[in-house]
Amino acid sequence: MLKLNGITRRYGGTAALDGLDFTVPDDTYVSLLGASGSGKTTLLRLIAGFEEPDAGEIVLGGERLDGKPPHRRDIGFVFQNFALFPHLSVQENVAFGLKHRETGAIASGSELTDRVAAALDLVGLTGFGHRGVGEISGGQKQRVALARTLVTEPRLVLLDEPLGALDANLRARMCDELRAIRERLKVSFLHVTGSETEALTMGDMVAVLAQGRIAQAAESTMLFHQPQNPAAARHLNAWNLLAGTVTGGALQTPVGRLPLPRPLADGTPAQLAVRFDQIDVAEPGAVPPGQDHFTARYLTGEFNGPTTLSFFRADDGELIQVVDHMSNPRLPDLEEGKTYALHFSPEAALLYEGAA
Ligand code: ADP
Ligand code: MG
Repeated sequence: MLKLNGITRRYGGTAALDGLDFTVPDDTYVSLLGASGSGKTTLLRLIAGFEEPDAGEIVLGGERLDGKPPHRRDIGFVFQNFALFPHLSVQENVAFGLKHRETGAIASGSELTDRVAAALDLVGLTGFGHRGVGEISGGQKQRVALARTLVTEPRLVLLDEPLGALDANLRARMCDELRAIRERLKVSFLHVTGSETEALTMGDMVAVLAQGRIAQAAESTMLFHQPQNPAAARHLNAWNLLAGTVTGGALQTPVGRLPLPRPLADGTPAQLAVRFDQIDVAEPGAVPPGQDHFTARYLTGEFNGPTTLSFFRADDGELIQVVDHMSNPRLPDLEEGKTYALHFSPEAALLYEGAA
């Protein structure tokens, strides 16, 4: 188990990580989801020991890691851009880490050959050892980078946006392979990404990094259905957030009165999160008098095969997204530029106390 306690890392006056607490359980695929610049690479570099935190402690298997040099931590790092040695062959790249280890280096002989062959086999590159790294595809380079890390038998593997350089088809295939490889090895993988779909697909557990801390860490379906705060909801790209103040049993927002899933005292600032597929759209006159709703102007739609994503702009400028499923259509024919009444049942919404 990896435990991060109160990790802070500042650059100049600003904290990239700000008192972050996080636990990576053993034998688990963990995705870390965060926007660009949220501190994902910084966090991995601190765990690997390429940088030291300004405050906090890093503990792996009960042993304090911070302060130790990187090569004494037994942690694997797969870099964002692969970082292979271009003048070495595939097998020389994979052997490099073993040959140059501070302790237990394996310089040559059958053990080196066998371990390199086993690592290449693990990532599906048997027979590619003699190729130059210029003679293999992007997906194969990714696997060499992984093999080079795994050959040293790390206690934990850190992957920095490992699929970012691959095209969409290859990305889907590598997703399955990474999960399968990890399951065979039984070491935890900590995979950072800016893509919510990648994070949810890959992770047994998904953590959201925002404002220098973990906003939420949970099993992926749990996170998707029950984000526990607005920061987590915002990162899932599936929830609309509507802010206002509780007034007379409803949430009074700049764009309309919205129903609450549970009562809150008048005057409480709060936000509602409503999933893209749980908002209904009606012609402006079609909402029964007294039904809570808000109005928004239809901008455009995006046809995605079995679903359509419609974009609306609420009067306060907020972008509202609505998903319609082809098998169960519920939206009227929409006209660009026209204003509609949007509504939802209160049971479908999540309620967060506090101002936006
Ligand atoms: P991510 O990987 O999520 O895109 P990073 O960890 O690379 O984010 O960066 C987090 C923040 O820290 C950014 O604002 C970035 O500009 C800043 N930062 C990262 N490394 C350095 C550095 N060596 N010097 C100064 N600022 C840095
Ligand atoms: Mg990064």
